[in-house]
Amino acid sequence: MLQRAQALRERLIEIRRAIHRQPELGFQEFKTAQLVTDTLTELGIQVETGVGLTGVVGYLGQGGPTIALRADMDALPIQELNDVPYASQVSGVMHACGHDAHVACLLGAAMLLSGTELKGQVRFIFQPSEEEQDEEGKSGAMRMVEDGVMEGVDAVVALHTHVDTLAGTIDLMPGPMMATVDTFRGAILGQACHGAYPHKGTDAIVLAAQVIMAIQTIVSRRIRPLDSGVITVGIIQGGTKTNIVTDRVALAGTIRSFKPEIRQQLFDELERACGVARALGGDYELKIKPGYPTTANDEALTKFVRQVGIELLGPDKVGEAEAEMGAEDFSFLAACAPGCFFRLGVGFPGQEPRRGHNPYFDVNEEALPVGAAVLAEVARRYLEQNA
Ligand SMILES: [Zn+2]
Ligand SMILES: [Zn+2]
Repeated sequence: MLQRAQALRERLIEIRRAIHRQPELGFQEFKTAQLVTDTLTELGIQVETGVGLTGVVGYLGQGGPTIALRADMDALPIQELNDVPYASQVSGVMHACGHDAHVACLLGAAMLLSGTELKGQVRFIFQPSEEEQDEEGKSGAMRMVEDGVMEGVDAVVALHTHVDTLAGTIDLMPGPMMATVDTFRGAILGQACHGAYPHKGTDAIVLAAQVIMAIQTIVSRRIRPLDSGVITVGIIQGGTKTNIVTDRVALAGTIRSFKPEIRQQLFDELERACGVARALGGDYELKIKPGYPTTANDEALTKFVRQVGIELLGPDKVGEAEAEMGAEDFSFLAACAPGCFFRLGVGFPGQEPRRGHNPYFDVNEEALPVGAAVLAEVARRYLEQNA
């Protein structure tokens, strides 16, 4: 399978670069969806479009068990700074999370599996908007699940590029691997007055400073040290003029956790920390928007994917992933069937990692056939074993 995938190397690089040049933000993946649709159709795979708005689903095989393979298609609002021939041609938009590579890998798996004898069905899920939830709070995976993409699926597998490990390798782990993410938005409220007479008002900037320091003690002083959590204030905005005491400072940030009880505790403690503003004569507003749940890998399926990886790539090329506080909406798919999310090494040998969500992000394209081969072989063998 790996040899057959290597023969597709040029084609997969071409696909990845075509998508990289024309990145599209969440739920606007029209060109990408068209490229996916055309490629699947050429392979003789039955295609359904408009699933979860801009998502595309390919159906291969008949009867037996069904395994779903998923790739996300959306890019990020980042201006690419790489000077490469395949750099983004869309100002302010860039594939800086490797989703272009994910699409190329999954199309590669479709190429490897089409025209072969399968002992069941493979569902190729090309998902919109992993990075962003729409105005109704829904991400691409949520929308596709609502449209029934996981109906009749017995297992679901996806990969994500990983810059810290070299191309040619994969990493994975059983159990909770990526955190729950929630977003908060709020404001600290005071009373405006002249900056020369601060005692006539209540300075929302000073209150906000106290609130932020209180927020910073939640994880260090309120959460059990062996549990994990993060609260990051990512946005703070307030004030209009140097000599005006402002009455409003907006705060917003991200909350990360693994356990439901810690998540609830972080919500409660955040509310309490904002209460510092009230204790000091001001007030606050706070809204918490639920995001993606924890991505937890199914034990048995993960063991199976690891075994396939070892046989395909060699034991030294399959590593043990560590849990991290990043989040993934793959969790919505994995809530419907046993799931396995693994990391595809895309690091360049002897080079600093090209970090994700950064204008200099890039992937080592030698990883593309590897990702395609692992996905295809996992699907083929899963169907064989579970037929
Ligand atoms: Zn991302
Ligand atoms: Zn991503």
